[in-house]
Amino acid sequence: MSQTSNVYFTDMRVHSNESIPLKLQRLIEAAGMETIDFEGKYTAIKMHFGEKGNLAFLRPNYAKVVVDEVKSLGGKPFLTDCSTLYVGMRSNALDHFDQAMENGFSPYSTGCQIIMGDGLRGTDDVSVPVEGGTYVKEAKIGRAVMDADVFISLTHFKGHENTGFGGALKNIGMGCGSRAGKMEQHYAGKPTFDADICIGCGNCLKSCAQAGAITIHERTEQERHDLQRRFEEQGLLTARGTIRSAPARYATIDHEYCVGCGRCLGACPVGAIKAAWSDDLNDPLGFKIAEYTKAVVGGRPCFHISIVIDVSPQCDCFGRNDAPIVPNIGMFASFDPVALDVACADAVNAQHPNPETELTEHISAHGTSSGDYFSDLAPSTNWRTYMKYAEQIELGSTSYRLVEV
Ligand code: SF4
Ligand code: SF4
Repeated sequence: MSQTSNVYFTDMRVHSNESIPLKLQRLIEAAGMETIDFEGKYTAIKMHFGEKGNLAFLRPNYAKVVVDEVKSLGGKPFLTDCSTLYVGMRSNALDHFDQAMENGFSPYSTGCQIIMGDGLRGTDDVSVPVEGGTYVKEAKIGRAVMDADVFISLTHFKGHENTGFGGALKNIGMGCGSRAGKMEQHYAGKPTFDADICIGCGNCLKSCAQAGAITIHERTEQERHDLQRRFEEQGLLTARGTIRSAPARYATIDHEYCVGCGRCLGACPVGAIKAAWSDDLNDPLGFKIAEYTKAVVGGRPCFHISIVIDVSPQCDCFGRNDAPIVPNIGMFASFDPVALDVACADAVNAQHPNPETELTEHISAHGTSSGDYFSDLAPSTNWRTYMKYAEQIELGSTSYRLVEV
């Protein structure tokens, strides 16, 4: 797609008789969201409800503006997200809802319900063919996300350690992937396992539908003794401060039978099972995210909003957020998620860095900025390649016209 897309923008300044919610409403109206036929349509609004300890996520008030607008146009909105791969507060629907509530998301604050995109355990997905996909033939997307008639992304734009920045594509492509979908994007799709962490509870075996993929073994007396010695040498303590005792049982995963569904990751109480991340595959990660995004947005009306405030150096999935690397910039909206991401990244790079941040530490360590703050923060990433690829697969355009509202 080589045409130039419009990206609408408003800053965070507020004068009398105005407010940030009113400005966001004006922005999405000026950007033409009302041209979508919402009448009687289920409308998924994809956002991130914030990991425990992270305060950079978007407040529910932003969602309320979008929800009210969709309702006023006759639509039936709901907020949605899918399970994470890692052990945290968003790895299953119940914990995820609790965390969303703790962060202020309720029907009272947002005006609509939350529906978990990929079900209780992150396994309720649909396979969506990716037309012309090189890396992904069938994306595994949360069923409720795909059941919606209209799709809206509402994204907090920030840095990201693996993709340079976390913008609309990351929110859509990775965020709407079920646990298996996220595994596929992050790597080859089969989990890794740490026998020393495993406590032998057997939860993973109960959650796995693939015969032979997980086996629980008894440790011999000698193996327990050797493991106990290692724990003592390493000073491995329990939560109560005593030396851990070597469990009598442990699990193993056989990749020959494992299909990479990811159920076991959510079932493990101690994080012994992990997705097989690879830091060397950052470009394919971005390319897969672009292909997943194409699967989510294809064949139905979509609209995208990104809020560029509290631009933390890393993803909101961490249970913390470091100081914002640049001043708050504003709100952006477009029908084109690629143009939107590029416009947001350019806007961040046009700012002077805030003092005393991870970004300024990187810049002073290297004597100068590379000219791109996201590469300064995560040198192995290259968001321009990722965006070019998204353009190549006709997800959107890297060329945009900024329309100030
Ligand atoms: S990822 Fe593999 S081992 Fe884990 S539950 Fe799925 S099939 Fe079983
Ligand atoms: S890997 Fe996790 S879920 Fe499976 S037996 Fe070990 S501790 Fe339990």
